Amino acid sequence: MKFNPEKLKIKDQRMVPFIDPEEIWGIIRDNPSDAKLVKGIVAKSLDKQRLTLAETAVLVNTTDPDLVEMIKEGARQLKEKVYGNRIVLFAPLYVGNNCTNNCQYCGFRTSNKDTIRKTLTDEELIEEVISLEETGQKRLILVFGEHPDYTPEYIAHSVKLVYGVKKDNGEIRRVNVNAAPLDIDGFRIVKDAGIGTYQVFQETYHPETYSKVHLGGAKRNFDWRLTAFDRAQEAGVDDVGLGVLFGLYDWRYEVLGIIRHTNHLEACYNIGPHTISFPRIQNASMLNVDKAHFVSDEDFVKLVAIFRLAVPYTGLILTARESAEIRSEIMRFGVSQIDGGTKIELGGYSDKKSENQNLNKEQFQINDSRSLNEIIDELLGNNYLPSFCTACYRKGRTGEHFMEFSVPGFIKRFCSPNAILTLVEYLEDYAPEHTKKLGYEVVEANINDLSQNYDMGELKGRIARIKAGQRDLYF
Ligand code: SAM
Ligand code: SF4
Repeated sequence: MKFNPEKLKIKDQRMVPFIDPEEIWGIIRDNPSDAKLVKGIVAKSLDKQRLTLAETAVLVNTTDPDLVEMIKEGARQLKEKVYGNRIVLFAPLYVGNNCTNNCQYCGFRTSNKDTIRKTLTDEELIEEVISLEETGQKRLILVFGEHPDYTPEYIAHSVKLVYGVKKDNGEIRRVNVNAAPLDIDGFRIVKDAGIGTYQVFQETYHPETYSKVHLGGAKRNFDWRLTAFDRAQEAGVDDVGLGVLFGLYDWRYEVLGIIRHTNHLEACYNIGPHTISFPRIQNASMLNVDKAHFVSDEDFVKLVAIFRLAVPYTGLILTARESAEIRSEIMRFGVSQIDGGTKIELGGYSDKKSENQNLNKEQFQINDSRSLNEIIDELLGNNYLPSFCTACYRKGRTGEHFMEFSVPGFIKRFCSPNAILTLVEYLEDYAPEHTKKLGYEVVEANINDLSQNYDMGELKGRIARIKAGQRDLYF
């Protein structure tokens, strides 16, 4: 298929599809790896500068083990120096799995008659949120299939319902959404409901592969999906989450696809993606994809490190699709958000009987089924600072990752203290004794570290107020 945007006769030039496979492959071909180049590119990123497509191509072409190590070490340093040790926690909440699309990798696709279809009633959705609040969650992403029932009004209704559920000291303070692309009016409706990030994964930036794996329904339209965030921006939804489903096509091409998309958003709207997600294909009921492009663990670590270096200001999300071991390994290379206590079966959080995974009820198989507290234990044990912070979004500081990254001292003045305050809330309200002990040791160590440059009086005062029963204190 020849890329010819002229033919589309689109009036607003920003909405013209911008992915040209020949251009992307040309950039990969023209930028072989070379020790001196890799060194310079890693140094540029550590100097907090975005990488170009050509520079990213050099990194994806790198196979020499010493140079790959240099890339990974660069990503580790960037994460440590720029973002510190915080990891933000969230949970996905599946609202409805009706779907009119026929994506060959997804258990919810319309041709899968084995799937048990369900849309949560309002009461069931409330039950799910109560169960999540009872474990300490503060940030959710609502997930929907693509179906005429899931209108913008319905998505907005679900978001508002979730914000309204308060159990004891529990509340959800940020609701993100992963759903089909909307038109501009649709995005306006969900924006008004107070959503955080709107996530839509392109799945693959390779149009031919895209056509092969999307066999029916509205999702067949590659360009409509590709331009979703242009419409989102037009509607004022400026926190957007990009993603690729790794395993559908060559991972090197897909990494460049995401960077091309990032360049487009930056050039047209002066704002890059809030987050990048990089799910790898997992087993699913009736999974029907060619395994030729499945990504090895080794390449997976490499590609995450490359994302960290290429777009240093964007949050990177690693989900429970991956095993606990892989998650621990990869976190060091620049991941900023993970899910915890994840259940992807419809109604799975409130259904205490259903402990085992059942592929007919789920979109795909997850490989990390640890509880939120088990994940927090591991994070604390490895000196990470678990965070449920939602402050920037609620203070109107949108583009927070950008500020963290570019405003000197921002993390130490805002992010770390807010992470500490939300962790203290968790320790007081939900943690068992051993987690509480470990958690306060980590809090202490972080305060000591911050006190070298900042007065900790206000933070210590707020911690005391939380211990005395106040909640939701943030900077
Ligand atoms: N229906 C929405 C859509 O298609 O955009 C969202 C559903 S889903 C939670 C979000 C993502 O899960 C999809 O965009 C896809 O990347 C991913 N996914 C689907 N099937 C998968 C599988 N078998 N393994 C891993 N991830 C999968
Ligand atoms: Fe439906 Fe989304 Fe699954 Fe595709 S990935 S079948 S659109 S739920």
